[in-house]
Amino acid sequence: MNHNVQTLPQLLHVGIIVPLYNEAVGVQEFHKRLCAVLDRLPYQFNIWYVDDGSEDQTGAIVTNISAHDSRVTLLQLSRNFGHQIALTAGLDHADGDVVITMDGDGQHPPELIPQLLELYEQGYEIVFTQRIEAAGASLFKRLTSKGFYWLINRLSETEVLFDSADFRLMSRDVVLGLRQIREYHRFIRGLVIWMGYRRALVRFEPDQRIAGTTKYSVRKMLNLASNAVFSFSTLPLKLAILLGFVLVLLAVAEGVYTLYFFISGQRSLLVPGWASLMFALLGIGGVQLIMLGVIGQYIGLIFQEVKHRPLYLLRGQASARQQIEAEEALHERTA
Ligand code: UDP
Ligand code: MG
Repeated sequence: MNHNVQTLPQLLHVGIIVPLYNEAVGVQEFHKRLCAVLDRLPYQFNIWYVDDGSEDQTGAIVTNISAHDSRVTLLQLSRNFGHQIALTAGLDHADGDVVITMDGDGQHPPELIPQLLELYEQGYEIVFTQRIEAAGASLFKRLTSKGFYWLINRLSETEVLFDSADFRLMSRDVVLGLRQIREYHRFIRGLVIWMGYRRALVRFEPDQRIAGTTKYSVRKMLNLASNAVFSFSTLPLKLAILLGFVLVLLAVAEGVYTLYFFISGQRSLLVPGWASLMFALLGIGGVQLIMLGVIGQYIGLIFQEVKHRPLYLLRGQASARQQIEAEEALHERTA
């Protein structure tokens, strides 16, 4: 018997997803910086660059990078779909026991990757990151960001961490779960919290952009904020009910006020027609708003239904699927 045969320990496969929009000037340097970190780690890495319909040379440069680095795959979107969709495309295509998403502008330091993977090895299924705001960020960006997180946390049941970033590690289970969530207006930072799983948090100081300026225009930021608020909250739909009740209360108060004039014998002080008109106005307005709110409730329910979010998510899905695939492969070979 040969006892010398040793099986090498299976290397953990790590997928890295990087969305890029017009990052031609910085992507080469980003890739170098990323590789400097990856080359020191005992894992098998694959990198998915998602070109989100760049109008510059981003696609050509990444094609060139992938020609020299077999770990690199380029996914090219047909037009600019936006950061969240680019991330989704990456998550749909990347495989690995664990996946990390990060920006390609150098603001998410690749040097943090070992720490994220260490937490994964400790059993965490999602490792979030949170920006410690660097002094360099503009007041406008800081204020809008603070305001946004304040609002979303007031409105939604899913708590979204202040200053969280789309720099995140997810186990294969989490990625498979995320793939089941197909809603069009998506805010991945919120979805991942909604999913649950064992999670850890790492804080980091964002670096300066390697080159270029932010690709998140004010319009794109507003779009993301409205997707976040409206896809995680049906509260705005319920506002009508609240307002309706306020009006009905006012109608009642007005009725009491009028009654006081009648009882105290000061009826003559009332302008004729004022009381009845006012009462009808407030009453009808209130009832209409309440009915609108009731319709809003139904629309809220429909809204939640059409999103088709999975009703629950399981742990161990990834290994179950791997087992099925292995069995199928075996079946094919023996058939
Ligand atoms: N990005 C993208 N599609 C877009 C906008 C941005 O893929 O429509 C990418 C961008 O190239 C970068 C990441 O998303 O890698 C984050 O964008 P950016 O750095 O401009 O946002 P900021 O850090 O200023 O919030
Ligand atoms: Mg950035």
